[in-house]
Amino acid sequence: MRILIVEDESTLNKTLSEGLRELGFQTDEAESLKDALYYVGIRNYDLVLTDWMLPDGDGLEVIPEVKRKSQRAACMVISARDDRESAIEALRRGADDYICKPFEFDVLVARIEARLRFGNTNQIEIGDMLIDPDEELVTFRGKDMDLKGKPFEVLAHLARHRDMIVSKEQLLDAIWEEPELVTPNVIEVAINQIRQKIDKPLKVDTIETVRRRGYRFCYPKKA
Ligand code: CA
Repeated sequence: MRILIVEDESTLNKTLSEGLRELGFQTDEAESLKDALYYVGIRNYDLVLTDWMLPDGDGLEVIPEVKRKSQRAACMVISARDDRESAIEALRRGADDYICKPFEFDVLVARIEARLRFGNTNQIEIGDMLIDPDEELVTFRGKDMDLKGKPFEVLAHLARHRDMIVSKEQLLDAIWEEPELVTPNVIEVAINQIRQKIDKPLKVDTIETVRRRGYRFCYPKKA
């Protein structure tokens, strides 16, 4: 999952970024509106965390750009404006959540997780399969499977979004550190690994290729 942090206070930006990375998110940092709009233009985000008052403008201006690219992307505003009117204005202008500064990091994380609908656990249980992102482990009927690294992350991401078709571009943005620097071919390699290490030994199909659109998690197949 990729998060864009838009915050002109460098120390706060860095702290948020490091904290979120430790929790397994991909993050990008922008310290101005211009940089934020640049990132939103080139990458897909699951969530954008934006400060309101930026040196070169109004941080809320990123919201329509984020939403135009993906309705599913969440926008959270963090701001020193602690009055009711500001919170209402931010929400009316499209923010999904509003957090006043100063805030506790764990409260912020809880709200991010709620926004991304993780529930209490990161584990994804589907039929006989359990995918545990914290342990980087797939188990099937209690048996550990040998899937690690990027292929594991691709499987986990598709399983987490199992109601939808996920494009190669979205997978790259969600999982690779510098998505522009790898070829989309790496996705095919990862999918192939999943098929070799999960599907083949278990005689199941986990990932379906949807022509020209991307991939969809399809386990267990509906009868
Ligand atoms: Ca600011």
